[in-house]
Amino acid sequence: MTANGGLRPRPGILDIALYPPGKHALGGDAPVIRLAFNETPFGPSPRAVEAFLGEAKHLSRYPDGSARSLREAIAEVYGLDPARIVCGCGSDELLSLLSAAYLGPGDEAIYSEYGFLVYRICILARGATPVVAPETALTADVDAILSCVTPSTRMVFLANPNNPTGTYVSFDEVKRLRASLPDNVLLVLDAAYAEYVRANDYEAGIELVATTHSTVMTRTFSKIHGLAALRIGWAFCPAGIADALNRIRGPFNVSGPAIAAGIAAIEDRAHEQRAADHNEAWRGRMAEALTALGLTVTPSAANFLLLHFPDGTGCTAAEADEFLQSRRILLRRVAAYGFPNALRMTIGTEEDNRAVLDALKDFMGAKAVARA
Ligand code: PMP
Repeated sequence: MTANGGLRPRPGILDIALYPPGKHALGGDAPVIRLAFNETPFGPSPRAVEAFLGEAKHLSRYPDGSARSLREAIAEVYGLDPARIVCGCGSDELLSLLSAAYLGPGDEAIYSEYGFLVYRICILARGATPVVAPETALTADVDAILSCVTPSTRMVFLANPNNPTGTYVSFDEVKRLRASLPDNVLLVLDAAYAEYVRANDYEAGIELVATTHSTVMTRTFSKIHGLAALRIGWAFCPAGIADALNRIRGPFNVSGPAIAAGIAAIEDRAHEQRAADHNEAWRGRMAEALTALGLTVTPSAANFLLLHFPDGTGCTAAEADEFLQSRRILLRRVAAYGFPNALRMTIGTEEDNRAVLDALKDFMGAKAVARA
């Protein structure tokens, strides 16, 4: 008899690889520079913290299950119909709900080669088949995605910009993808990092959701709004898709403190702008300085950089990670994404960024001396 009295999860569930969680902390009490989770160095808006604390008085009450006030605040900022917004426990939950509503055994869902790993988990969890489209220059390739489409295709996930590469697909290309996909294929535009993009040819996808039948855009409060711990995401959907998600989501899937803090966060446009400006300045500076150290930095539109260590020189990402940890700096290992010799670094405060630069300079220098 098995430990669970013969009870087993549905076929395939135990074949799902656990999401690689990333190291949260280092031992000891000394402070850690944590640039492993794409969190904002600015933290949340002080108004969001105040709103969160104010909710402490109401913890015995259930929140409004439709998160109406939060949906209305989001709708106001982006000029959307609040009835077509669904909020969730992080955008992760919305990706999972979309899969629950639209995928089942025998269905195929496509994501790109270095795409965010949660897609694969969502697809497999529903008994559907993941189909991986190759990328070009570490960027999602619309033609490659289209060539994966079969009569069984039900969904395409596109992180734009993508994690962990930071690369993005232009709006023209996204429109071409949508126009070439059959109407009954759901295109999920995961725009978790949209607020950081400064490219003129980028759009998060609101227009496509508004003008097509089967496109959804997901967003998060975890990144630029600094509320990762509260777990708030939202999806802008065609009405029928919002209806489907509302039928299957938990009736109180967004907590009262999350609703209150989310409203204050999205209304603090100046806080968001400051974070985006800082990111823009330091992303460029860091990419340049790290390239000068001999690393290859994938061009990023987001709030992080993918740093590739030079193959065959003995400067491996694993050793660099150990070296950085010895200086109490945590970046993200990305081997599970197919990058065994790279680390992902979130853009931090000026002080933290400089600490990473100094440490990597020492690491690369020590390696060069060892080779000489
Ligand atoms: N999409 C992408 C591309 C991400 O990188 C993340 C965060 N790792 C998410 C979605 C999920 O974010 P959250 O659930 O915190 O909203």
